[in-house]
Amino acid sequence: MTSWQEIERKYYMQTVRRQPVTIVRGQGTRVWDENGKEYLDFTAGWAVNNLGHCHPAIVDAIRAQAATLMQTSNQFYTVPQLQLARVLVENSCMDRVFFCNSGAEANEGAVKLARKYGRLHRNGAYEVITALNSFHGRTLAMVAATGQPHYQENWKPLPQGFVNVEYNDLAAIRSATTDKTCAVLLEPLQGEGGVNVPAEGYLKAVRQWCDQQGLLLMFDEVQTGMGRLGTLFGYQSFDVEPDVMTLAKGLGGGVPVGAFLAKQQAAVLEPGDHGSTFGGNALTCAAAYASAQFIIDNDVPARAKTMGAYLKKGLEGLKARHSYITDVRGMGLLLALEFKAEISAKVLPACNQEGLLLNAVRPNAIRLMPPLTISKEEVDQGLERLERGLGKVV
Ligand SMILES: *Cc1c(COP(=O)(O)O)cnc(C)c1O
Repeated sequence: MTSWQEIERKYYMQTVRRQPVTIVRGQGTRVWDENGKEYLDFTAGWAVNNLGHCHPAIVDAIRAQAATLMQTSNQFYTVPQLQLARVLVENSCMDRVFFCNSGAEANEGAVKLARKYGRLHRNGAYEVITALNSFHGRTLAMVAATGQPHYQENWKPLPQGFVNVEYNDLAAIRSATTDKTCAVLLEPLQGEGGVNVPAEGYLKAVRQWCDQQGLLLMFDEVQTGMGRLGTLFGYQSFDVEPDVMTLAKGLGGGVPVGAFLAKQQAAVLEPGDHGSTFGGNALTCAAAYASAQFIIDNDVPARAKTMGAYLKKGLEGLKARHSYITDVRGMGLLLALEFKAEISAKVLPACNQEGLLLNAVRPNAIRLMPPLTISKEEVDQGLERLERGLGKVV
């Protein structure tokens, strides 16, 4: 126990069960703790550092922007915000964007937009259908949207207007649809809920249902966006275009920035409807613009696809050798390994000791989401460390 960890116990709100590792520096796929011990970071700041830690393109952009202009009121135009807006719109199926500061806030904005849409086009419909095992954030409304009872129980009464239905089940969406429904909000691939891949044809069928009923289809791409699944946006991996999409996590490459984007016919917000003091801030947008431009110019999503397939093959090798591994799933560099027993809480510290940082996405499953710039050697080394860590637990 180092002094920083004691200070945390004394002063910090005890909302997270942390691993006993104090990270002081990062470079690429690696981070170092205060004792100089090196780790491969397969958490990537929670699927945030898509270009790895301290990527020079992002660091240079932040340095230059910090010395030029950090924040103005959104009453004025600023260049980085509009550069980022253009690059996101021109490289997606969307027509307009609004910037905020986090994933939860991006989804809140998308839900406000959906309610406005319902008011204008569906007789005041306001209800949003979401999926069980989803994750949409921690604000009160997003807790209601998040279909996981253990995130909801303590905070009742929850805001109304959300219906949680079974994932991968079109019939459940159909029967939950009423005159009150204005939108369906889904992650194209569920992240925090356990890395759950959509069934073949599910998202296309939901798209058809939304078209038929006049509902907005909204994809929460906070985790899947910016290359993680092997395409710039997750929807491209499934060949289904949403009407509205939210981004955060990987968007800023490490700085807090979120966004919601909409197609023209869904872009119903008007002056005064929505706002954010820091949203679209020059500093965070300069970082996000540098990151997005680098991802696009260097086809980083293609690299995520190749390295993801390589890592997945390695994980399947582990599964073939060890009967306590029951499943390997995911896409691109958003992967999970499931165990026969609930051993995640033991796997994490054992792997940390071996120099590998992981996430316990379920009591019986770990999630692997390294930077998209990871090398083949780093994948190999990560797999070796993982197997050694697992060997100490089972
Ligand atoms: C992490 C996450 C969020 C919440 O983002 P915050 O920035 O923590 O508010 C929302 N949706 C998905 C799919 C996420 O993975």
